[in-house]
Amino acid sequence: MSQPCRLPAGGRIDRGTLLAFRFNGRHYEGHQGDTLASALLANGVSVIARSWKYHRPRGIVASGVEEPNAVVQLETGARTVPNARATEVELYDGLVAASVNAWPSVDFDVMAVTGLFARFMPAGFYYKTFMWPQSFWMKYEHLIRKASGLGTSPTEPDPDHYDKMNAHCDVLVVGGGPAGLAAAWSAGKSGARVILADEQSEFGGSLLAHRDLAAVAIDPASDGSIDGATPMVWVARTVANLKAMPEVRLLPRSTAFGYHDHNFLTIAERLTDHVPPGQRRGPRERVWRVRAKQVVLATGASERPLVFGNNDRPGVMLASAVSTFVNRYGVRPGARAVVFTNNDSAYRTALCLAAAGIDVAAVVDPRPAPAGELPGRVRKAGIEVIGGAAVVDTRGRKRVSAVDVMALDAKGTVAGPVRTLACDLLAVSGGWNPVVNLHAQAGGKPKYEAAKACFVPGTPVQAERSAGAANGSFALGACLAEGVAAGEEAARLAGFGAAGASWAPTVVDVDEEPIVPLWAVAPREGIGRGPKQFVDLQNDVGAADILLAAREGYQLLELAKRYTALGFGTDQGKLGNINAMAILARALGNDIASTGTTTFRPNYTPVTFGAIAGRDLGERFEPVRKTALHAWHEERGALFENVGQWKRPWYFPKAGEAIHDAVGRECRAVRNGVGIMDASTLGKIDIQGPDAATFLDWVYTNAWTKLGVGRCRYGLMLDENGMVMDDGVTTRLGENHFLMTTTTGGAARVMAWLERWLQTEWPELRVYLTSVTDQWATAAVAGPASREVVQAVCAGIDFSPAAFPFMACREGAAAGVPARVMRISFSGELAFEVNVCANDARHVWEALMAAGAAHGITPYGTETMHVLRAEKGFIIVGQDTDGSVTPVDLGMDRVIARGKDFIGRRSLARAGTTGDDRKQWVGLLTEDPMEVLPEGGQVVADARAPVPVPMLGHVTSSYFSANLGRSIALGLVKGGRKRMGEGVEVPLADGRTLRARVASPVFFDPEGVRQNV
Ligand SMILES: Cc1cc2nc3c(=O)[nH]c(=O)nc-3n(C[C@H](O)[C@H](O)[C@H](O)COP(=O)(O)OP(=O)(O)OC[C@H]3O[C@@H](n4cnc5c(N)ncnc54)[C@H](O)[C@@H]3O)c2cc1C
Repeated sequence: MSQPCRLPAGGRIDRGTLLAFRFNGRHYEGHQGDTLASALLANGVSVIARSWKYHRPRGIVASGVEEPNAVVQLETGARTVPNARATEVELYDGLVAASVNAWPSVDFDVMAVTGLFARFMPAGFYYKTFMWPQSFWMKYEHLIRKASGLGTSPTEPDPDHYDKMNAHCDVLVVGGGPAGLAAAWSAGKSGARVILADEQSEFGGSLLAHRDLAAVAIDPASDGSIDGATPMVWVARTVANLKAMPEVRLLPRSTAFGYHDHNFLTIAERLTDHVPPGQRRGPRERVWRVRAKQVVLATGASERPLVFGNNDRPGVMLASAVSTFVNRYGVRPGARAVVFTNNDSAYRTALCLAAAGIDVAAVVDPRPAPAGELPGRVRKAGIEVIGGAAVVDTRGRKRVSAVDVMALDAKGTVAGPVRTLACDLLAVSGGWNPVVNLHAQAGGKPKYEAAKACFVPGTPVQAERSAGAANGSFALGACLAEGVAAGEEAARLAGFGAAGASWAPTVVDVDEEPIVPLWAVAPREGIGRGPKQFVDLQNDVGAADILLAAREGYQLLELAKRYTALGFGTDQGKLGNINAMAILARALGNDIASTGTTTFRPNYTPVTFGAIAGRDLGERFEPVRKTALHAWHEERGALFENVGQWKRPWYFPKAGEAIHDAVGRECRAVRNGVGIMDASTLGKIDIQGPDAATFLDWVYTNAWTKLGVGRCRYGLMLDENGMVMDDGVTTRLGENHFLMTTTTGGAARVMAWLERWLQTEWPELRVYLTSVTDQWATAAVAGPASREVVQAVCAGIDFSPAAFPFMACREGAAAGVPARVMRISFSGELAFEVNVCANDARHVWEALMAAGAAHGITPYGTETMHVLRAEKGFIIVGQDTDGSVTPVDLGMDRVIARGKDFIGRRSLARAGTTGDDRKQWVGLLTEDPMEVLPEGGQVVADARAPVPVPMLGHVTSSYFSANLGRSIALGLVKGGRKRMGEGVEVPLADGRTLRARVASPVFFDPEGVRQNV
């Protein structure tokens, strides 16, 4: 019979639409509106997966994102999705899914044999077992890696495409249950721009799983009705109202997965996953990058499981999931149920099961005498309530066939005779956990509320507030009222006044009796002896594992988590973590509040790589950056080289010229006349604020506070280890205003580095950084004739040496547009850098070319720049340094200020970073001046020494210098400065060995006369 476990009526499924699907190769049918999980349950499939470590049979436990077991491989080939949760996969016609972690089948899994040795494989088993012999580790690692993980990644390129969208709003509401809908409505009616995102296919949240009051003929004015209407009538009305508001955007199937600084949230919207693959049109997913002025978190609560013997057997489900499958999907998850709960909410499950015609054997409740309204109704329905008792074990093979119930004494220990209740469904509820993930990601610290036995949001750090079940307010009336208030407050703080009257919902809530926490049922056989009591179903972590971790010294929650694998995996401990915290706290004699939670990190639920990548694939993966002068360079036949993401002119060959001809010509032009280079790619960071000079003092090795306005200074930046990470010239434009230049390739890294220090270590500094690399174009005019050229083009600047000295900056106009001119030099020649707005680059560049024509102005590229700077012994960070070089190694002690602190300072005094024997940067002159050493070539004392030949260092830069008429090289050589004049050898790949002499790294104009004219 098709769908033997489908109830004859009810649910939000379209019974008129049959959908065919395959699971583990077998054909089944379901309905539009089903999830894969509900359709499998409707077809009586109870074993969906095998557990990760012990390969135990596992069934569906939950009904939403918190599902730990029912993880499936969805579809095949290029569209295969690993680790899809069956509870989240919307059913479509032709869907194909399979179990994971089972061979040859989920019903008969060979690896289930590991379960027999479970006792010998506790937490830490891998760490303790695979230690000997040490050399075998690589083999063990291979096997362990093979055994780990669940699904299989696709091997073919993804045929779908994905989008990204940036959005700004006044109020972002996350969660579209009653609290979220009420919040969106109250914020929306004020005129604020509102986004409402909910991860489910329909709005309504938990209301989607309420009993259909109309269908079961319960007085709609009594329990769970809203303003006298059934909840879903209210939902439909509210959604229609929201749709009519022009400033409100509704995003169903959209999960807010990250809450970052400055109220920046990321939302993954699933656009076509619910459509058969062949019929999908448009992007599959879209990531929304939302910057919200105010946020309302109405993310609801997830139900907690209970920890007892064999609590992982298929047929053990969360009570709310049971209600959801019955009420929302019209599924009969079992024929005879037992409910095990320590709070009143699961009594609703007993009632809904009974209303659906499903036999309820009993409700087992550890509270001695459950006497509230809901237990009363359950008793009235003829269902036995067994108070002061707990389920201690389940029986059955691949599905629950019975549960063992024992009384609990005053100390919470199980005692007395065992009563066995036959059932094939056990609905459990250990209470509710507000979904505080996003609040915690935003910086809030959840606090433990003992009366509710759960963590609730703490004080918000960002502009957010929580409402409804996410805030620990579980009653429907409270959810709605909090939603209204939160929406109104958020809109007001975003600058919108109330529009229209507020709304006070009429809801008749049933008073619930207080919960009595029960984190783990004490096993009758003693800890670790009886059946496994699972805390984390996805990672097969049991209560005994947590206790073992505590005994072995992993007493901090974060350590116990890592030791046991608790909360790893796709569900990130959504179900089990809090029980584990409580078990650990009790074992250590602590309270839960002080044990605290583990860290909630993005992503809230898994996000596909496709969604993260969006359209940034192939050519768009890394953008190509071109300067504003790129077209001019192309027109002049420049060849380009990649520097970071930039295309920089490498050299400008004339007809018939090879690279060394062109570079030789360009070099001679700069030394003898004038050259011009596009230096626009240098990173430029505008630094402003009263503490800007102090900030520079801390990030550069030299001193900045006394630098005069209008002056420039070279700076060297170190990392924490004292190693050179970047350099550049920084100009003081005003008392509190500097312009830093960085290396072309290092700009983004330096910007992030500076921001990191400002934001995390020195937040008290009043300093603001803006990247202006793209905004300014820079023409470097270098050579003895450069002054004539720039002064012919610039106005308002006195270029006389006295008025405009070396390392100074002047503002004026260049070819009629505002310009900043710096007198700095990377070639050792008299030189000026003319900076103008990038839009004016070509106009100014052409004016400079015209003015320089009489002097034979020659455009030059990066190769010439490299040769000229090497002649002068100027470093290129990243070429002459490699992250292991200190300023002292470079012979740049002069730029280390003595009397101040800076990043990396202490590391320069460490034993490993001092001493004469470190590799030092020196010049290398080949015996044969026409031979050019290869860059990267190894420097040795004697190339014929026995192998392995001791290495002295390597060549970092090497060129033929047309100006010097010989080759020059720079290299890092052990104790290099002590070796001045000594001979070294550089073996070549072709078998030859070149001999060279260690020399000063400055080959040309060592006194620096030429740049000071
Ligand atoms: C099965 C069941 C039956 C119930 N029956 C009754 C009843 O009969 N009477 C009664 O008074 N109360 C009942 N309740 C309780 C009541 O429904 C809830 O207390 C109430 O719905 C909570 O409202 P909420 O808006 O705070 O959260 P929810 O209704 O749970 O809504 C939260 C929404 O946020 C979504 N969400 C969470 N995180 C994200 C994210 N990161 N991104 C996007 N979306 C997210 C969730 O999927 C959900 O749709 C029942 C609850 C359940 C679960």
